Amino acid sequence: MAGVVLKNVNKIFDNGFHAVHDLNLELHDGEFMVLVGPSGCAKSTTLNMIAGLEEISSGEIWIGDKQVNNLPPKERDIAMVFQNYALYPHMSVYQNMAFGLKLRKMDKTEIDRRVRETARILDLESLLHRKPKALSGGQRQRVAVGRAIVRQPTVFLLDEPLSNLDAKLRVHMRLELAKLHKQLATTFIYVTHDQVEAMTMGDRITVMRDGEIQQVDTPMNLYSNPVNCFIATFIGSPTMNMLPAAIYTSQGKPILQLTNGPDWPLTEKQVQMIAAARGTDIKVGIRPEHFHLAPPQSVGSVSIDVTVEIVEQMGSEQYIHFNICNRTCTARLPADTPIQATDRITLFVDVDRCHFFDARSEKNLSF
Ligand code: ATP
Repeated sequence: MAGVVLKNVNKIFDNGFHAVHDLNLELHDGEFMVLVGPSGCAKSTTLNMIAGLEEISSGEIWIGDKQVNNLPPKERDIAMVFQNYALYPHMSVYQNMAFGLKLRKMDKTEIDRRVRETARILDLESLLHRKPKALSGGQRQRVAVGRAIVRQPTVFLLDEPLSNLDAKLRVHMRLELAKLHKQLATTFIYVTHDQVEAMTMGDRITVMRDGEIQQVDTPMNLYSNPVNCFIATFIGSPTMNMLPAAIYTSQGKPILQLTNGPDWPLTEKQVQMIAAARGTDIKVGIRPEHFHLAPPQSVGSVSIDVTVEIVEQMGSEQYIHFNICNRTCTARLPADTPIQATDRITLFVDVDRCHFFDARSEKNLSF
């Protein structure tokens, strides 16, 4: 087992494109770290640099107590699982899993022991003699993971390993991989662009954008304490509602007013935070579940009258879409309340649960 450390890592491609900017990241031994972000944010480049498949332009990469900058992939004690798992079609499951170990000239008995043990962990024992074409998508993916496990690496690198699977199988394999991580207690670095996958699997999540780290945190902290508007709207589905507002001062006290909307009553803590803000333009962030049909009991609330535009019935809950300040907003409400398009309803917002961002820098004012 080993932790992984990236110190001031940069990647500038031959064409001059600066893809990764001064990345600093510390992964604990045995941690499940997810790298997530929109397409092109340099998740794969970062993973490939850790694997040694892509050279770094500057900085340091450490795996355990070894600086690996100049080590080829096979000397880094890592194993990688790709989106395109490319099993050898003419080999059986057993041979596919044993192949890498054979190349390393490992003793046959040890190869056999490792392949059978891995097949047991991944529930592949009854499929060892089959060729890949006789396997389902999920089974093929398990073989690809098995091929990595037999090598007993200190770090697993997984690049969108579930993207080729259908939605139901992805959910199943997500759980399988999380269980596997617990069983192996090895460091996992997992790349995905899917924030749900990131939230459900990671011990911690690194959110990237344009080759830079935006925030590294536990799933719950990312959700509850996003450092900026990008994280706030990237994590969570339906996404956080963002309403434009401005600060004005009345009798020496800062007041927040939604653009074309009502004043926003603030808690004492929020007054202090807003007063310290340099700009006067603010974005108020409201998670869909913080709209209610009745005033929440424990905290202050603001009421807003809205006209329902669309109702999305999800079975266990319903998403209500409406307009505030010329912005389309979404509330997540219990499924059993009869609400229809064109209804006029009053919604109450937990003032205490709102987020406030500087409209220019997009930074969360509570940091
Ligand atoms: P995706 O989710 O779409 O796979 P990603 O976050 O993994 O995206 P990368 O594949 O790491 O992103 O690419 C990061 C950036 O570097 C992109 O803008 C990409 O176009 C660019 N890039 C990748 N490889 C090269 C290369 N060999 N030469 C120049 N630019 C490259």
